[in-house]
Amino acid sequence: AKKPGETISKGHKNYDLMLNLQLGIRYSVGKLASLTQMRDLRQGDFDPKEKFWTRFPPEGSKITPPHQSVEFRWKDYCPMVFRHLRRLFTVDPADYMLAICGSDALRELSSPGKSGSFFYLTQDDRFIIKTVKKSEVKVLIKMLPSYFQHVCQYKSSLVTKFYGVHCVKPIGGQKVRFIVMGNLFCSEFHIHRRFDLKGSSHGRMTDKPEGEIDETTTLKDLDLNFVSACTRYGLRNSWGEHDSFSRFPSALDMNIYGQIDRDCEFLEAEGIMDYSLLVGLHFCGDISSSKTSLSACSSSPCRLSRNHSDSSRFHGRRPLIRLGANMPARAEQSGHGGETFEVILYFGIIDILQDYDISKKLEHAYKSLQADPSSISAVDPKLYSRRFRDFIRRIFVEDR
Ligand code: ATP
Ligand code: CA
Ligand code: CA
Repeated sequence: AKKPGETISKGHKNYDLMLNLQLGIRYSVGKLASLTQMRDLRQGDFDPKEKFWTRFPPEGSKITPPHQSVEFRWKDYCPMVFRHLRRLFTVDPADYMLAICGSDALRELSSPGKSGSFFYLTQDDRFIIKTVKKSEVKVLIKMLPSYFQHVCQYKSSLVTKFYGVHCVKPIGGQKVRFIVMGNLFCSEFHIHRRFDLKGSSHGRMTDKPEGEIDETTTLKDLDLNFVSACTRYGLRNSWGEHDSFSRFPSALDMNIYGQIDRDCEFLEAEGIMDYSLLVGLHFCGDISSSKTSLSACSSSPCRLSRNHSDSSRFHGRRPLIRLGANMPARAEQSGHGGETFEVILYFGIIDILQDYDISKKLEHAYKSLQADPSSISAVDPKLYSRRFRDFIRRIFVEDR
């Protein structure tokens, strides 16, 4: 399958930014790796003032290599904490450095969100780099001690895996802050459908016209509505006529609900709202047998075609849900007799750096004039978490 995004080569408007970012990360990770033993974390490592500016003159310095772009400064936030986090998430320092700073350029995803952030994907699909606002860095650094504690305590937490926070300041230019995180959809399986779900309904529908919906389109809460989904996106052919497929039928085990509860409690305690459950679906190609093994799937990836003869294979079959390899648990639905087809499911909680600040309170007040206040995304963290969890429990139901 074609890789998403545009490769950033010379001449691209963000080419210099990418170079700076690669130089910075190589420097930071290299410096840490050269410190012999990894020591335990101390309270001071979480200090928001625990950040380090480094100057990168083009001609190079004692500690930085020469480079092609204008002089810039590079800032690392709480580097020791992120070093520990990378280890906790089993990211090898050499792999990390190679993926981000290797000769392969990064790919820029055409701005998937409304916020104006840029997204970069490493060529190996493992890491996503997102430019963020100052306020988001503040939120992350403030929550870092409890985030650290949370992900240490819950190995199967679904919240975004953060690997680093940095800032680039070219001379005479603006500061650009960014985070490095795990790509939820890093998988050998191609993602055929993706949903970004908040549990709110106001405005929660893709604005793409039907003909342009494809595998890269991020669908939203209202797009889940099967009746509208199948007529709008031609999913009826592919998914058969299961009305109950408006929800993801599955036997998701209760551990996952429990984990989502723990994750939401954590976010609520940190005053966070506006996060999403990002869901990716892979439809396995070989559906001739309900016992299709994972390896058989990967050898014959299916295309979600609107072509009748092809997709009629799904007709009348019930989906058999599996969780992707990097998911916390494997849920397998035994199927209640009848024919099945396999779907591999990936999900996680993303965009967790928005607190209920004045802008979100104003958004709430303003949108409440037009719509039912409980339907709008901007609500206080307690309500947000309640609604989010209720929604997830409603979509992941046992198929009837
Ligand atoms: P907004 O605030 O308008 O919702 P944003 O710019 O903050 O948008 P996000 O919500 O973080 O952006 O992400 C936008 C989209 O990018 C997601 O819907 C998803 O498709 C993709 N995305 C973001 N983070 C990840 C991730 N960790 N793994 C895979 N895809 C991701
Ligand atoms: Ca978002
Ligand atoms: Ca956001």
